Amino acid sequence: EFTLEREHTNIPTTAKTLVRLSANENPWGPSEKTKQALIGAIGESNRYAFKLRSELIKAIAEKEGVPENYILLGAGSSELLTASLVAFGQKGKILVGDPCYISGNEERVPMEKVPLTKDYQYDLDAIASKINGSQSLVYITNPNNPIGAILPSESLSAFIDNVSDKITVLSDEAYIDYAKDPKTATMIPAVKAGKNVLVLRTMSKLYAFAGLRCGYAIAKPEILKKIQPYCSGGFDMSVPSFAAAIAALKDTEFQQLTLKNTEESKQYLYAFLTKIGYTYIPSSANFVIFPLKMKGSDMLSKMAAEGVMLRKWEFDRQHWCRVSIGTLDEMKSFAEAFSKIIS
Ligand code: PLP
Repeated sequence: EFTLEREHTNIPTTAKTLVRLSANENPWGPSEKTKQALIGAIGESNRYAFKLRSELIKAIAEKEGVPENYILLGAGSSELLTASLVAFGQKGKILVGDPCYISGNEERVPMEKVPLTKDYQYDLDAIASKINGSQSLVYITNPNNPIGAILPSESLSAFIDNVSDKITVLSDEAYIDYAKDPKTATMIPAVKAGKNVLVLRTMSKLYAFAGLRCGYAIAKPEILKKIQPYCSGGFDMSVPSFAAAIAALKDTEFQQLTLKNTEESKQYLYAFLTKIGYTYIPSSANFVIFPLKMKGSDMLSKMAAEGVMLRKWEFDRQHWCRVSIGTLDEMKSFAEAFSKIIS
């Protein structure tokens, strides 16, 4: 993740089994079709990936309904996010919600943080009211990580209509595939309408590519040109990753399976938390955050001893635990270990 995972995660050293619910990965992948494509491409790995690169761009352009020159690929969306923050960060501050995926990185990026509303949603009115020429970018993670909440697309579109003449809006849509209706939730229509909007997408989540690395930016060419100098110049993904990405985009069966399994595990987690008298923030992503009744650091070390990796947060004068959605067995292991450490 953007912040060094090691600093924030409890990596168990003694536990025999590892239940990895700390980095919002997809436990059901890679799909069989992805694996076959990877194996099939190994023999071509001595070559640069020029041809596969244009094939993937074409496939993404078709899927998202945008021209090919509106797409910039990266080795995961982290490459594109870092490039965007470097490019825009030189011109002014980045307006962010607090907390959001990058709000802990203020030493790396000049930021202005705007607290979430009391129900943990982006405060779009407050963000709009801060725009004064000293900022260069508004960064919105939708759904927000670590919260899991999604903005109603009408509110975000209205916000973009209102501010994007003055400032570029980055819509980080890493988890949008888990939304009820991703096509309505995405801000790609605003890009198509010519607005100053930069959408970032990743294949790390729904497509199970966290270790394979494929992400893409969608924006008009003028915006892509600003971030391109800080990317690797087309030498990012590997030949097997390109072949796998082309196959995975078509593998709708695996995508549907992931969504079905995610929902089942999430409902199990919700029911468990309710049963033990805990609340949670309803999530439109593949993780759930809930308030703790102990210190986050104590929870992490106790859960590490049980072999369960998680993340902690502190906001709104409260300690929180973020659980990535794993397989049903992994959620049961989480429930068993958590019941033990609170009893
Ligand atoms: N954006 C958000 C909101 C994320 O949570 C993550 C990873 O968890 C990323 C971007 C980066 O993901 P990747 O580099 O794997 O595409």
